[in-house]
Amino acid sequence: MTMEIPIIEIKGVGPETAKDLEGLQIATVEDLFEHFPYRYENYEVRDLSTVKHDEKITVEGKVHSEPSLTFFNRKKSRLTVRVFIDRYLITAVIFNRSYLKKQLQIGETVTITGKWDQHRASIAVAEIKKGKEKRSRVIEPVYAVKGNVGVKQLRKIMSAAFAQYATQIVDALPEQLRTQYKLMDRVDALKAIHFPLDFRQVKQARRRLVYEELLLFQLRMQAFKMLQRREGKGSPIPVKKEDAASFISKLPFPLTQAQQRVMNEILSDLKKPYHMNRLLQGDVGSGKTVVAAIALFAVAKAGFQGALMVPTEILAEQHEVSLKALLEHEQVKVALLTSTVKGKRRRELTESLKNGEIDVLVGTHALIQDDVAFHNLGLVITDEQHRFGVVQRRTLSAKGNNPDVLHMTATPIPRTLAISAFGDMDVSTIDELPAGRKEIRTFWAKHDMLERVLTFVDAELQKGRQAYVICPLIEESDQLDVQNAIDVHGQLQHYFQKYNVGLMHGRLSPQEKEEVMVGFKENHTQILVSTTVVEVGVNVPNATVMVIYDAERFGLSQLHQLRGRVGRGSDQSYCVLIADAKSEVSQERMRIMTETGDGFKLSEHDLKLRGPGDFFGKKQSGLPEFKMADVVHDYRTLSVARDDAAALMHAEAFWKDDSYTALRHYLEQNGVFNKERLD
Ligand code: ADP
Ligand code: MG
Repeated sequence: MTMEIPIIEIKGVGPETAKDLEGLQIATVEDLFEHFPYRYENYEVRDLSTVKHDEKITVEGKVHSEPSLTFFNRKKSRLTVRVFIDRYLITAVIFNRSYLKKQLQIGETVTITGKWDQHRASIAVAEIKKGKEKRSRVIEPVYAVKGNVGVKQLRKIMSAAFAQYATQIVDALPEQLRTQYKLMDRVDALKAIHFPLDFRQVKQARRRLVYEELLLFQLRMQAFKMLQRREGKGSPIPVKKEDAASFISKLPFPLTQAQQRVMNEILSDLKKPYHMNRLLQGDVGSGKTVVAAIALFAVAKAGFQGALMVPTEILAEQHEVSLKALLEHEQVKVALLTSTVKGKRRRELTESLKNGEIDVLVGTHALIQDDVAFHNLGLVITDEQHRFGVVQRRTLSAKGNNPDVLHMTATPIPRTLAISAFGDMDVSTIDELPAGRKEIRTFWAKHDMLERVLTFVDAELQKGRQAYVICPLIEESDQLDVQNAIDVHGQLQHYFQKYNVGLMHGRLSPQEKEEVMVGFKENHTQILVSTTVVEVGVNVPNATVMVIYDAERFGLSQLHQLRGRVGRGSDQSYCVLIADAKSEVSQERMRIMTETGDGFKLSEHDLKLRGPGDFFGKKQSGLPEFKMADVVHDYRTLSVARDDAAALMHAEAFWKDDSYTALRHYLEQNGVFNKERLD
């Protein structure tokens, strides 16, 4: 932790190598030690009877018969040789190494590494050596590498670094925690991770390093939060419960208990003198927008301005309409600012924003442009927080006197995970839908049932309803997605000749998008073919069918978001997932989608079936990434670390005793400790 020694100091590392290592984000010895292997080669000699099909193994045996060689062409060949391993006679298959034929004599002892094919009783040979296994280490780490530094060289550098610096490794974990959890000390753990003797060691080492990483993360987050509370000069907003109550009494519905609860949490935060940083999560349609409106109303009544920032123009306009409907007859002035507001209109708008005539500003990224200044910004709400980068959020916050911030997200994650993973945020959760919501009936169809699906869509259209069709998703290629959408649009236009079919994708200009959306909203088009851009927030209550092509390519949470585009009116709505779903996991996912409509349950499944990185995409979920730990896999450790961090920071000893020096130093290095006790 204190080893800020540049890697060039390591024996054998010259300027060239150092540069290559920097490409891997390795600048110091510390970075090097924390460049963990992502897997291991296992050359441990195994007993064949315990090996599973397709497993990579190393075995020792004796050549049993003359090798036989087949040439496919001058370079390509296959050599097969029968080998006795314990009591088994197996076949070793060696490609493109014909020269080995002469070397493999009957009776010779060999060590073979390769993939075991149980059905053929054969090994596809990766390595074959004469004699017994002689490696000093039978487990070798495999590292991510780049540039001219290969895995073998990296192993050498790692050894050299250990030889030189192992004695200087500082263990930040206090003795007491190490004993309590029976954790290895840091030197041993790092040694075991990089040079393990067996896999039990790796497991132990990992346990220690994961705990350490998560404890440090929690300490950093909690210290940051305390520091913000102490130093955040955010002005208290004197919101009144009565204002909120009178507003609520005019709504056409009572709030759900969950809405009531989170509203109270938010209002009481607003009144406090420190800066609010709160996550509001709730399923699609759980009524987050209404809660946001109440908060904005109360803030406006208390004499402050509010801003609502959303990811797309479509959403911004939608929010503007619904906020105006809720707020304007209460003398709260709402305005919209997007990139299409230009010239004189923009100047007028920014002017009245600056002099405080506008109470609530709704908009896209346009809100954080330089020419936008507020009179007294008190509350910033971001919708779908994961879509804004941290920097953008900071910029907006800097526009007020450290305004309170509320992040809304409809990609809920289990509450306990949210609390642990977003250490610097408080979490409010709406875990209840308004009464009387109809479940969206969800079906799973294979591609060869497309005709039936279209017949079903047709029947709904005949009833006067509308449908969304979401196009096949091609990972990493926006362009191909667009082409797909264009193709599907063409096919459906041909199929549904009686109806108008709209087309929406990310390559359209904001104006074109707007036109397409309005066309669908006003029922000029009955079918909307789209890429995933309609995912968030779009509201067309007459649409009752959502068809999703290639549904297995989407994560559960994303499918749920898409499904949430229907079921917004009083009619029964449907979602059809078209997926061949060959793998077990995708079948499981399709099954779960047809069985549950609860976003929280889905996100739990989502996290379980794959990691967060694969599914939500870490960016989307906003979940932190670690070197060793994984928020989902190591979730239990994460919450233990959270409690431990809180206990430490509240203990007198933590701020004084020598055994915590390293931890305090760590906080200092991360800029979240100002030498005084925080609480
Ligand atoms: P979210 O933003 O969480 O997706 P919205 O706030 O847009 O949800 O609410 C979805 C719909 O439900 C809106 O039409 C809203 O007017 C309505 N709604 C919100 N809260 C309630 C409630 N407590 N009872 C009935 N309807 C509600
Ligand atoms: Mg919403």
